Amino acid sequence: MLIRNATLADGRRRDVRVDGERVGAVAAAGTLDAAAGEGTRDATGKRLLPGMIDVHVHLRQPGFSHKETWATGTRSAAAGGVTTVVDQPNTDPPTVDGPAFDRKAEFAADALVDYGVNGGVVDGWEPATLFDRPLFALGEVFLADSTGNMGVDTALFSQALDRARTAGVPVTVHAEDASLFNESARGREDADAWSAYRTARAEVAAVEQACQVAREQGVAVHIAHASTPEGIDAAHEAGMTVEVTPHHMFLSRGDLGELGTDGRMNPPLRRERRRQRVLDRVADGTVDMVATDHAPHTSAEKDAGVWEAPSGVPGVETALPLLLAAARADRVGYERVRDLTATNPAEVFGVERKGRVAEGYDADLVLADPGTSTEVRAEALHTRCDWTPFEGHDAIFPEWTMVRGTVVYERGEGFADHRGANVRRPEATDGGAETRGREGDEGAGR
Ligand SMILES: [Zn+2]
Repeated sequence: MLIRNATLADGRRRDVRVDGERVGAVAAAGTLDAAAGEGTRDATGKRLLPGMIDVHVHLRQPGFSHKETWATGTRSAAAGGVTTVVDQPNTDPPTVDGPAFDRKAEFAADALVDYGVNGGVVDGWEPATLFDRPLFALGEVFLADSTGNMGVDTALFSQALDRARTAGVPVTVHAEDASLFNESARGREDADAWSAYRTARAEVAAVEQACQVAREQGVAVHIAHASTPEGIDAAHEAGMTVEVTPHHMFLSRGDLGELGTDGRMNPPLRRERRRQRVLDRVADGTVDMVATDHAPHTSAEKDAGVWEAPSGVPGVETALPLLLAAARADRVGYERVRDLTATNPAEVFGVERKGRVAEGYDADLVLADPGTSTEVRAEALHTRCDWTPFEGHDAIFPEWTMVRGTVVYERGEGFADHRGANVRRPEATDGGAETRGREGDEGAGR
């Protein structure tokens, strides 16, 4: 297929040839000719980006298929321009040993897009069989209990880092120190009580502690869903990598009056001033990547008191559209959007051949038209979760999304019958004799 006259993230106009599963050529617009029988797509005036690699998604299967399934969650991903999702281990059974990994792999066979599967850490952990499997990363390791009661203490965390280093597997950390939660907020019943309870200080202290343990062991950790500018800075200054979610970029405690417990998640929403400073760090490059922490619950489950409602919000389908709208509004550059959603996640987690629009790379591509404007509407989304915290937000949704050369989603047309592959199984995605992708036609700075 030949994609004609696309505008890349850096503003250059290019023709892009897709050869099988890979990008075969990237050349100045108007210089590539379609071969006999080759399909073409006109991309004039539209942005062509590498597909988003969302390293933090809770697909809920096995165990909670009423919230989400691999089929529904990866359709939602594709419709939002996400071409690789990384599933988290707090399912039932939790993905903490080899047999549980194998059970999850049966469900993952339903994935429309490519994927990774993380393994988790729990008390009494016996990880030997887990590390035999093609894990994406170890994590998120919870330094405090969250959904699934998978919290661990510092000694176990240290042991987990050691095992992961031996296995050559990256580690991601959910950093909140429960000993620093504000117990006095327990007397309140309003939705903001959750944010008052799980304090900013509890996050910052846990980030510092995780980075300290990692530095002592001479390893790197990746801090998941940092919600405070102080937590981001602590991770960055320690030489670790850090991700931020769309809800911590675009929502704050001021929205909780309207959101109620739909705005309850871990870590919680912060004050408006902190939200703006988080977004500043996303825009200026201090933050390494955006990941969604897509954590669907039904609205019936969310319709509960602030101390009973489950934590988590859906977000895999809206992340890139919200970022593209922010780029159009000049709040963050298109190149930053590309780096945050694709290039950096691929580099940090060692995902080969993904994250760039460049010859030799997987043809994981998204086309979006900045000339179109849409508001996020829950009823138009494809997750099994029947609501969104971003209702009414300005967004630019993809026209189509391609995974390894197959258009898996096209707006107005729906989804292709396609099977994603585990990105940690090279044999599954390697289409045969291959030259490793050369450094990108489109360069990227972290
Ligand atoms: Zn988490």
